[in-house]
Amino acid sequence: MKIRFWGVRGSIPSPGQNTVRYGGNTTCIEVRSDDGHVMIIDAGTGIFPLAQTLLASMPLNVHLFITHTHWDHIQGLPFFIPQFVPGNKIHIHGAYDPINHRDIREVLSRQLEYSYFPVREAELKATLDYTTLRERQSVQVGDATVTCILMNHPVLNFGYRVDCNGKSMFFTGDHEPLYNIYDPEDEDYEEYKTFMDQKNDAIAEFIHGVDYLIADTSYTTDEYPQRMGWGHGTYDTSVAMARAAGVKNLIFTHHEPTRGDDELDKLFDQAMANYEKKPGDPELHISHEGLEFEW
Ligand SMILES: [Zn+2]
Ligand SMILES: [Zn+2]
Repeated sequence: MKIRFWGVRGSIPSPGQNTVRYGGNTTCIEVRSDDGHVMIIDAGTGIFPLAQTLLASMPLNVHLFITHTHWDHIQGLPFFIPQFVPGNKIHIHGAYDPINHRDIREVLSRQLEYSYFPVREAELKATLDYTTLRERQSVQVGDATVTCILMNHPVLNFGYRVDCNGKSMFFTGDHEPLYNIYDPEDEDYEEYKTFMDQKNDAIAEFIHGVDYLIADTSYTTDEYPQRMGWGHGTYDTSVAMARAAGVKNLIFTHHEPTRGDDELDKLFDQAMANYEKKPGDPELHISHEGLEFEW
């Protein structure tokens, strides 16, 4: 099994001299099963350079999993070149939009209206099929199984777990661990706490024991109070989630677009310095474009 990062930013691409080492593209992760089946999680701008490497092995049979449809997770999709080439098969999976009552195809096809893009969906030459997933639904991709769970974000966001021959990884997409929205004096505090604990526990159980947990780590703990409820995690919440889930490796990702390379180096050094690693605790990593793990 193999994972490779093609985009590690949240919110908006951030090219420039200060982001050369970590990269400026938005979220996109390539996952390969032992047998070489290609899965892509999210279609941020990182999917464009990924596509260049796929062109050599056409015709393609690719499974794309969308965590959620905020721009930074789908804005590269119209420029995913393999969808213009006849003979390629692209299977797209994602969540239902309960606010606007649209399935994943309807949500994504809006990007291909003439107001936004010169090529309509009907003109794409590859064979595209769409699956609107229910929570905990599994999709078989060759020798790999991909299963989704609802995370905590202002829009429905699926985290995806990929299992292949006893190896596994999980990507949170955008996720803020649940916190209590009531004050301890409020009468609803205890009831909400029970709900919150159950949901956080269910997520930890779902992720349990994966080899690689890739987690939304947008903020520092100092920044978090001003950004509570925006739907993102911190270095500390990601470490807590990784410990609760008993994972082997934790990879911080979805970096703030304003952070340059030096600042990310510093934040990772700080996270390592604050981390009192005990037996069974995961190894920590920080994502950058081109980071790859094969196991
Ligand atoms: Zn995002
Ligand atoms: Zn988001």
